[in-house]
Amino acid sequence: MSETKVAQFAETVGTPVERLIEQMHSAGIKVENSESLISDEQKQELLNYLRDKHGSVSKASPNKITLKRKTTSELTSASGSGASKSSSRVKVEIRKKRTYVKRSSLDETPNTADAELLEARRVAQETKAQQDLDDKVKHESALESKKADELAKEEEAKKRVAEIAAQEKTQQQKQDKIKETREIEQLARKQTKPILKEAPRAPSPDEKIAAAKKRHPDKPKKFTSKDAPKKGSNTGAAGNKSRKGGRFGNNRGKKKRFNDPDIETRHVFEMPTEVKVIDVAIPETIKVGDLAQKMSVKAGEIIKIMMNMGSMVTINQMLDQETASILIEEMGHKPVLMKEEEIEENLMEEHLDGEKAPRAPVVTIMGHVDHGKTSLLDYIREAKVADGEAGGITQHIGAYHVETGKGMITFLDTPGHAAFTSMRSRGANATDIVIVVVAADDGVMPQTKEAVQHAKAANVPIIVAVNKIDKEDSDPERVKNELSALDVIPEDWGGDVMFMPVSAKTGQGIDDLLDAISVTAEMMELEAIPNGPAKGVVIESRLDKGRGTVATVLIQGGLLSKGDMVIAGQDYGRIRAMMDENGKIIKSAGPSIPVEILGLSGTPTAGSEVLVVKNERKAREVALFRQGKYRDVKLARQQAAKLENMFSKMENGHVQNLNIVLKADVQGSVEAISDALKKLSTDEIKVVIVSDGVGGINESDAQLAVASNAIVIGFNVRADASAKRIIENEAVDLHYYSVIYDIIDEITTAMTGMLAPEFKDVIMGLAEVRDVFRSPKLGAIAGCMVIDGTLKRSSPIRVLRENVVIYEGELESLRRFKDDVQEVKSGLECGIGVKNYNDVKPGDQIEVYERVQVKRTL
Ligand code: GDP
Ligand code: MG
Repeated sequence: MSETKVAQFAETVGTPVERLIEQMHSAGIKVENSESLISDEQKQELLNYLRDKHGSVSKASPNKITLKRKTTSELTSASGSGASKSSSRVKVEIRKKRTYVKRSSLDETPNTADAELLEARRVAQETKAQQDLDDKVKHESALESKKADELAKEEEAKKRVAEIAAQEKTQQQKQDKIKETREIEQLARKQTKPILKEAPRAPSPDEKIAAAKKRHPDKPKKFTSKDAPKKGSNTGAAGNKSRKGGRFGNNRGKKKRFNDPDIETRHVFEMPTEVKVIDVAIPETIKVGDLAQKMSVKAGEIIKIMMNMGSMVTINQMLDQETASILIEEMGHKPVLMKEEEIEENLMEEHLDGEKAPRAPVVTIMGHVDHGKTSLLDYIREAKVADGEAGGITQHIGAYHVETGKGMITFLDTPGHAAFTSMRSRGANATDIVIVVVAADDGVMPQTKEAVQHAKAANVPIIVAVNKIDKEDSDPERVKNELSALDVIPEDWGGDVMFMPVSAKTGQGIDDLLDAISVTAEMMELEAIPNGPAKGVVIESRLDKGRGTVATVLIQGGLLSKGDMVIAGQDYGRIRAMMDENGKIIKSAGPSIPVEILGLSGTPTAGSEVLVVKNERKAREVALFRQGKYRDVKLARQQAAKLENMFSKMENGHVQNLNIVLKADVQGSVEAISDALKKLSTDEIKVVIVSDGVGGINESDAQLAVASNAIVIGFNVRADASAKRIIENEAVDLHYYSVIYDIIDEITTAMTGMLAPEFKDVIMGLAEVRDVFRSPKLGAIAGCMVIDGTLKRSSPIRVLRENVVIYEGELESLRRFKDDVQEVKSGLECGIGVKNYNDVKPGDQIEVYERVQVKRTL
């Protein structure tokens, strides 16, 4: 067998050496440089390769050609041939793909090479044949060179296919993890299974092709540019050979292997080393762009892979940890999951040591509007603030502490229940005790009930302040009765709740109330470490024009001092100045003391945790980490509260609560639904009605749902604007119903994992009634503005008053100016006549819905 140097051969065929080496690489022939020796056999291979490329058909038996035709020309068909490959060749096949896949000619190469191999060897002894060969190569090489650009592009395509192939391998290992199982993947899996047994890194050819189809080379980068310097040529050769065997039957494969067993074996084992595996640390969430950077690839690469996996993402999109790790494995790297707590672990440790000492209780006052909350606070403050300096100073602070004869008490002044619960939803347990103020002359009102529900949800003791007992028509017994109905049972009735009759006007009973607070607090044995690094909770924060960010912080442990570096939620900074609730500059403060601090990088949300940290770097690190984590925590919480996730979570063996916030149009419905829902409780799932009530879904309901991971059920009621905002922002799971049976059915369904209901009401449009005209002929015509969606003349409607459904029916007429119309879009005015209903009033809303068939998903 004669061998020639590449340089020499290049001269013979009249092709530049580099070009020739490139061509040889493309043909899968192993050459290092111009000094490398090539055999006639290899020349033959090159010839075949070049011929294939130009469509010469001088070799290959007819049946081979048939095969080739089937598998060539397009990537799709190549996949077909791939499926028939023998599994033992798979690893090498990848290489080959790298080099060849898109090309029809490539598939042909093995045929001819194999067929002519023995022939070539014989011929190689003869100079004449040698010359012929050289001439042929010369001819083909020249032709080939002309198409250099095209080739380069194709090679890029091949390279990409190969890359995907390598990635797809890991996808196989993660099959079960990938939720969006697409047809292609399923197909691919079937075909790769046997392959995987022998060669775990091998992707299914179908997958590669499928993936490749979705890609297109965007720059004419050469395959060799990256891989060739080290082992491109090696792999090429191996790939070429193995492919012959693999694709065209065992006989050929064996023959080839017999001829050159080393190459194949060697390359099979070399394969995994090709991708440089790096450890990629991923936090709870990571931006596509950031992930790309970590793997030193273009974001576009990731986007494409995601696309192939069935989801469209953008460069700024956040991926969750699981998705990111699948992706990283796809790309042949190793995902390292960063634990949520890990980064903050050390942060907490610092706050753990130290001896505890009793601390003052933190009390939140809640109750129905006008029942005397503010008056009560004012009275306590004015009467009890020893130095009396509070007067006249604007109180921005939402918290203050009072020295009483029985010790200090800190009061939290949250604007409403929603604010209270919103703090709690951020994990802040700022309150030890809740005082529910009820006016004795008014009794339990809707917000009283809310207050009770929020306090109960927060699992803190309640003290009832029965206020306005100075009034003649006050009726404290009635308050006891009504609260008992809410399961707030007075001590003297055998319950565990203290009822304290007070008057914020006369001050009667207020000392006793403070006593009650102290006694309750004593029983709770409230403690905190009084020194060391402080921790606390943000009560409120705002941007002050002169002073920058001002945050009101309730210290819960340790000693907070001016100059401390703190992290507050997603913000951090060094405390520039610190004030007490009266605006007086202070140097430091301890547990249960509310302070105002200046110097934070931003305005943290109420309920954010505040921690003193050692240095700024650590603070910044954690703040940034939290900025990323926040979304994930939120997402996780939202997912946890989704009705549809009920069953799958249950399957994991968790006994869990299904928390429900229920609002309905009438008390009868509230009770009926509440009872029916509670009865659905099983051993695995306990149905808990966190709160229920009559009327539209308001902000407070929404906040409670967020804080309690509850779903919200509206029976013949709707969410108001502020509730809608929270529900949207926090992705609360909201369900509207108008038939009790539907509620029971759907909840049961969710709990048992049965098929989802087939039909659902979908609200298509919403109009607000601005004015009502009476027409002798048509009755009441509501002049409306469409505020959401589209009104359709033919769809059923509901009339809402204060977010409660008051009528259900259909439209008699829908008009724009004087014309009857079929539909009216958002932002437009229209006249609506409701069939058989004439009591529409300005301010009412008209909701148009459709009953649609829901795709069963389970
Ligand atoms: P809030 O909305 O719960 O904060 O209630 P306010 O503290 O603003 O009180 C509402 C009204 O009730 C005010 O006019 C107060 O003067 C009055 N009020 C509050 N407490 C008492 C009380 O103990 N006795 C009497 N007679 N009036 C009271
Ligand atoms: Mg008030």
